[in-house]
Amino acid sequence: MTKKRIAGACLLLMLSLQGTISQASSGASELKPYSQISWNYLKTLTGFGPRNFGSPGYTKTLELLQEVGKKYADAVEVQPFVFPGDNGEKLTMSNVVMRFKGTKKGRPILLGTHFDTRPFADEESHPALRSRPILGANDGGSATAVLLALAEYLHQHKPERSVELVFFDGEDFGEKGSGENLLGSMHYASQLRKQNMEDWPYCVIIIDMIGDRELEIFKETHSVKSASWLLDIIYGIAEKEKIPQFRPQSKYTIFDDHYPFIGLGIPSVVLIDFDYPHWHKMTDTLDKCSPESLFAVFFVVVKALGEI
Ligand SMILES: [Zn+2]
Repeated sequence: MTKKRIAGACLLLMLSLQGTISQASSGASELKPYSQISWNYLKTLTGFGPRNFGSPGYTKTLELLQEVGKKYADAVEVQPFVFPGDNGEKLTMSNVVMRFKGTKKGRPILLGTHFDTRPFADEESHPALRSRPILGANDGGSATAVLLALAEYLHQHKPERSVELVFFDGEDFGEKGSGENLLGSMHYASQLRKQNMEDWPYCVIIIDMIGDRELEIFKETHSVKSASWLLDIIYGIAEKEKIPQFRPQSKYTIFDDHYPFIGLGIPSVVLIDFDYPHWHKMTDTLDKCSPESLFAVFFVVVKALGEI
């Protein structure tokens, strides 16, 4: 995937704005430690190596998610599901759900991401590299790290509305065009279908690929159609707090883990920077990410939880 970078002067201006969030921002100093906490989680995750289904890194990630969930969440649940693999084999994948009770009644906010990484670097130009699993520092790692830091935050700061942090499996599993993607979120949505609608999430916010050092999060088009009011809250906060990584223009149409929930009629958005030259390549490594980018998203999401 190649996308045009913003040219010349405009890029320089953007980079100059992308420092740490202004200390004048309300609550920025109180939240600041979560920049390092998120970054540490990202270092841990990438230290596990590739985290595609069945890999040692995948197993370690599942263990970490459960460990963090047990420590910080009111309840943690592993939701296994079976996916038919090649040659009739049955693959058991797992979503992990951390539940945090709110101080007021009402349906929960689902905050989700995928924790799996791409099993093959199929965007590499060199054929020899295309069968190798990617490290997924940004794609799979960055948003997982932010949600893990949010688990710590929500343990310390009870939300008003209940929150479910959901770590989806199998988002990046299948080959292009195979339809074998979004496996965890499709399973989760299919389970919701069996439940009373009163127990469904009030809204869904998915984050994915938010670690890019040159982070620019545009409004994704399915999200605009599904829940423009929710994007208004999120981008309104970013504007008020002067967080330049959030760009209010609409760009990209992406089938991410929000899509199965849109199918249920639940207001759902994805926050993603798809303009990432290392997407599905071996070069998606930690040095392409920054703590400032993780924190920009952490900060806006935390603020949004208080306004939904
Ligand atoms: Zn991906």
